[in-house]
Amino acid sequence: MTHPPQDAYARRAVTPVLCYPPETLPAVDLDGYLRARNGAPCTARTIVPPRDARCFDVKAGQVFRITSVDGPQVGDLNLWSAQDVSERFYSGKTRALHGTHLDTGDRLWSSFPHLRPMATIIADTLEWYGFDEFGGGVHDVIGTRCDPYTGRLLSGDDYHHCCHSNLTRALADHAGLTLREAEPLVHDVLNVFMCTGFLRGTGQYFMKASPVRPGDYIEFFAEIDLVGALSACPGGDCSSEHSSDTAVCHPLLIEVYTPATQPSGWVSPAPSGYDRSHGR
Ligand SMILES: [Zn+2]
Repeated sequence: MTHPPQDAYARRAVTPVLCYPPETLPAVDLDGYLRARNGAPCTARTIVPPRDARCFDVKAGQVFRITSVDGPQVGDLNLWSAQDVSERFYSGKTRALHGTHLDTGDRLWSSFPHLRPMATIIADTLEWYGFDEFGGGVHDVIGTRCDPYTGRLLSGDDYHHCCHSNLTRALADHAGLTLREAEPLVHDVLNVFMCTGFLRGTGQYFMKASPVRPGDYIEFFAEIDLVGALSACPGGDCSSEHSSDTAVCHPLLIEVYTPATQPSGWVSPAPSGYDRSHGR
């Protein structure tokens, strides 16, 4: 243990400064998105079986909805640009820009050198949850994804239906890749419906039973052409454990909706305009 300096109290009492004030981000016209989305027909449906994953295609201007069916279930979401799978969802930068848990009006940003919105959240029936007394919230970008490597590290066992493996198999099947080619493209997720936080005092990552119930959904407007993949986590509602066949698991439903018109004034965002000279 180190000894606190004499001015420890004063140093701790310094007021925090928001790293990325929300008002400095490009404005989101939520009403415009909702007007375009209103009445749009469902044009594709995919059921994600428990302890497995499926891919889905979404064009820029379409909307996709993830719905809880049958029982509480957490989903792990990956997104890639349909034109270039090296452009993928960047959970760390999304967390820095919007916070640890996402909500209506927040965006899912893509990796460097692109850094553009891939999707915008336009509806969420769990918005009421906010943050609970433990500091837990839903739809986090703090977890990574359950995976067989950490499972082996901690238990010594090999489990093949972690979200990482489910997403790898789904992408390989969808894109015609080998498992070895697909695996490095799988990335840190949006934990859909998962309830997580950090324990105050120790900062340790925790999870608790998801408040999601059948019929709850979260809806995204696709800003660019996307390939998505969703895993129905082997942790089920993530109330106890994952990386095993112990938890009760349920399917998840993915629906794509095709609006007749685009939101007024909307254009699919271009990649970052930074010239990539990096000072040379
Ligand atoms: Zn998982």
